[in-house]
Amino acid sequence: MRLDKLLANMGVGSRKEVKKLLKSKKVTLNNKVIKDGSIKVNPDEDSVRVEDEPIIYQEFIYLMLHKLPGVVSATADVKDKTVIDLLSEQDKHFQPFPVGRLDKDTEGLLLITNDGDLAHQLISPNKNVSKIYRAKVKGELPQDVVQQFTAGIILDDGYQTKPANLKILAATEEPGFSEVEIEITEGKFHQIKRMFEAVNCKVIYLKRYRMGELSLDSQLPLGAYRPLTEEEMAYCF
Ligand code: URA
Repeated sequence: MRLDKLLANMGVGSRKEVKKLLKSKKVTLNNKVIKDGSIKVNPDEDSVRVEDEPIIYQEFIYLMLHKLPGVVSATADVKDKTVIDLLSEQDKHFQPFPVGRLDKDTEGLLLITNDGDLAHQLISPNKNVSKIYRAKVKGELPQDVVQQFTAGIILDDGYQTKPANLKILAATEEPGFSEVEIEITEGKFHQIKRMFEAVNCKVIYLKRYRMGELSLDSQLPLGAYRPLTEEEMAYCF
């Protein structure tokens, strides 16, 4: 890989800024000052330093975001703030993207990465990765709603959902509302909202807590994110 590309990818600066750093003799490769950005480096073996600070090469980034309502799960949007806008400039250099989508008004666990293979593993429909949500639902849930969700719900477009586990957590203090936990293994557009619409109810709050083996960190404030830990990486993927 070219030295200037490595430096830019690691968030040291833009291509232009990297060029300036090289020119001003602030970059060393194996303890030798290098001014030529086109020189090839082996990120696993060579030692690259900028102003004597080591640059540790990392190809992939894995971030857990506690998505807040009002931002969209996209890399760019003409109208709305995106989940990528919540990241630092340094993290944006990795060109990460959200794995799957949460609706604009949904909050909770969102994995952000630039690892396309992992993203594919997690969202590919035939992998049946489980996703667990909690929801507040308005309306009278049918007596047999749990069985209906297990059997599969016919959505407004005629699609029959795969079996979903529904737990009714508690009747809320307000009459006519319920709190539920739901586990689905697919990700159709507005799936959970449409499943409840099919039984004449309305989701008024939705939060994702789990995706596969990865759980939302309860210490992570709404809108904040952090890299996955080594344990999470080893255990979850
Ligand atoms: N189902 C929905 O309806 N919305 C989401 O954001 C996720 C699942």
